[in-house]
Amino acid sequence: MARPKIVVVGAGPAGSACALALQLRGSAEVLLLDKSTYPRVKVCGSGLSPKALSVLEQLGVRERFASGAIQMPKMLAKGPGGQEVLLSGRKGAWVVPRITFDQGLVDAAIEHGARFQQGVKVTGLARDPSGRVRGVQVGDDVIDADLVISATGSPSRFATDESPQYAIRTIMGWWRGASLAPDTGMMIWDRRLDGYYAWAFPEPDSVVNIGITIPEHAAGAKQLKDLFRELLDEHFAAVVRGAEPIGKWMGHPAILTTKIGDHVAEEGLLYVGEAARLVCPATVEGISFAMESGVIAADVVTKHWDRVGGLSRVGRALYRTRLAARMLPKFWAGEAFVKLMRSDRARALTSRAIDVQWLASKATALVGEQPV
Ligand SMILES: Cc1cc2nc3c(=O)[nH]c(=O)nc-3n(C[C@H](O)[C@H](O)[C@H](O)COP(=O)(O)OP(=O)(O)OC[C@H]3O[C@@H](n4cnc5c(N)ncnc54)[C@H](O)[C@@H]3O)c2cc1C
Repeated sequence: MARPKIVVVGAGPAGSACALALQLRGSAEVLLLDKSTYPRVKVCGSGLSPKALSVLEQLGVRERFASGAIQMPKMLAKGPGGQEVLLSGRKGAWVVPRITFDQGLVDAAIEHGARFQQGVKVTGLARDPSGRVRGVQVGDDVIDADLVISATGSPSRFATDESPQYAIRTIMGWWRGASLAPDTGMMIWDRRLDGYYAWAFPEPDSVVNIGITIPEHAAGAKQLKDLFRELLDEHFAAVVRGAEPIGKWMGHPAILTTKIGDHVAEEGLLYVGEAARLVCPATVEGISFAMESGVIAADVVTKHWDRVGGLSRVGRALYRTRLAARMLPKFWAGEAFVKLMRSDRARALTSRAIDVQWLASKATALVGEQPV
């Protein structure tokens, strides 16, 4: 049987992991497209949670990133009550700058047979008269496909998703020569961030990335740069003292939902990663969910492809169900954590070391970590 032609739009972790997983299964001819030219910078803390590392293992590419990774087994966490606690996990997270990480995943997909075209901006979906997706539009041209995987990240380029969702605003920068232990990240739940947090993560070559996350409706989100400056002074002055800023501060919204609706799978089209809004509320962790959804999509396509009908109705339903089963409990836990951190109770709780330890261990559990 001829293998289906699959066009994957977007070569972030979701698209590249999906392309790689399809190639590993030998189940499709894959064309991976991205509007950027690689290697490209991505606004991100570049933290790979233990969960992300296990997906890399599953894809057989974890070791490829080991030599360029910063191992970050410890996290200095501070609650809105001001008490600090140093956490360490059994598994540990890595930091791999996205410029290298995303390039590495694309390379792995290419080495396994995927075709990659960069600098190609997809401008729309091509549909047949019945509405079924038949390919993608690039300007006046159409690239035909038996299946399109939309991995365009946030905000989802072609989404028709009407389920409740809200945006988290972010702003971040990079500093060279900053004073942060190379094995320790920082996460600070400041009340001005309305249940969200500021972070500092060590990168290779004595670089540190620092940023904040805040719901779009919070008062501080209106003057994001001013708030970032204020929090830098208050929480990270010792980290950036004498360090050299690299480039401009950058931001990108994360759009969250705690529902996985019908929109993630339609005839001829699947959404993966942030294009399907798969980001954890609370941690804004998305790399693991992006890659995992790409792998689930590849699996479902491999098992449920019908030569005439394409990805069967059962396959599409299974894709939704498997995403929901794997991810929604974590998203719900994340949402509950944000509500708690926003409450007055959190302030009281996190003014005592014992309670902030408990809260912070909940936060680490959200990224698949087991506190020691
Ligand atoms: C400030 C910030 C910090 C974060 N920190 C972390 C962290 O430390 N750890 C973590 O796990 N997650 C983090 N996240 C979330 C994480 O960055 C995302 O969840 C993850 O990048 C999603 O992967 P993706 O492949 O779905 O989308 P993306 O990584 O956004 O990739 C989408 C790709 O699609 C391409 N594209 C878009 N539109 C088109 C088009 N029309 N045609 C062709 N190509 C297109 C883009 O160029 C891009 O390369 C952070 C997010 C933000 C905003």
